[in-house]
Amino acid sequence: MQLIFMGPPGAGKGTQAQLLADLWKIPHISTGDILRACVVAKTPLGEKAKAYMDAGELVPDGLLMDIVQERMNQPDAKAGWILDGFPRTVPQAAFFDTLLCDVPGGGGAKSGKDCALRAVNLDVPDNVLVTRLLSRGRQDDNEQTIRRRLQVYREQTEPLIEFYRDREQLVAVDGDRSMQEVTAQLQQVLSGNS
Ligand code: AMP
Repeated sequence: MQLIFMGPPGAGKGTQAQLLADLWKIPHISTGDILRACVVAKTPLGEKAKAYMDAGELVPDGLLMDIVQERMNQPDAKAGWILDGFPRTVPQAAFFDTLLCDVPGGGGAKSGKDCALRAVNLDVPDNVLVTRLLSRGRQDDNEQTIRRRLQVYREQTEPLIEFYRDREQLVAVDGDRSMQEVTAQLQQVLSGNS
């Protein structure tokens, strides 16, 4: 299973990605989690990323590529993976296409187009997202940062929906339902029983 989870902040990507990764026994790779760990450990990458994350901005593309490449090359990512929060920009998606041809977990793809990759978009209305994020209470979950993250998502990440739809790799799922309903729908659609 080679899955990308897209969707705005608060859509439930992390929760659903973790549930399915546990079920299918493949790694859940969250670039947000990796970056937060770097911030806590005060690594050079963490020091650079912190200000962007606190402001609700995306960390520059160049800082993401190495960490994703390194993570995808680890032995547990050979049989499949769920990527949560990456790619988030068109240049990241282009980079990811070339990476898929190189890493063992790319299944020998010659291009991103011929890969068995599926890109899940969890769709949730803005008012629901803001309510959910405010109740979550992460450091970057204050109202000002939330607004900025939603704006950044619409401007920089939403174009990826068309990118993957054009390639017939997009799986669109209504995320404005209970956690259990969304998980059940995802399992059904991704196992080809929809
Ligand atoms: P997340 O946990 O996915 O909501 O990510 C938290 C923050 O980490 C984001 O608001 C960004 O600042 C940063 N981040 C995570 N993934 C990426 C990415 N693929 N590209 C740029 N910034 C990212």
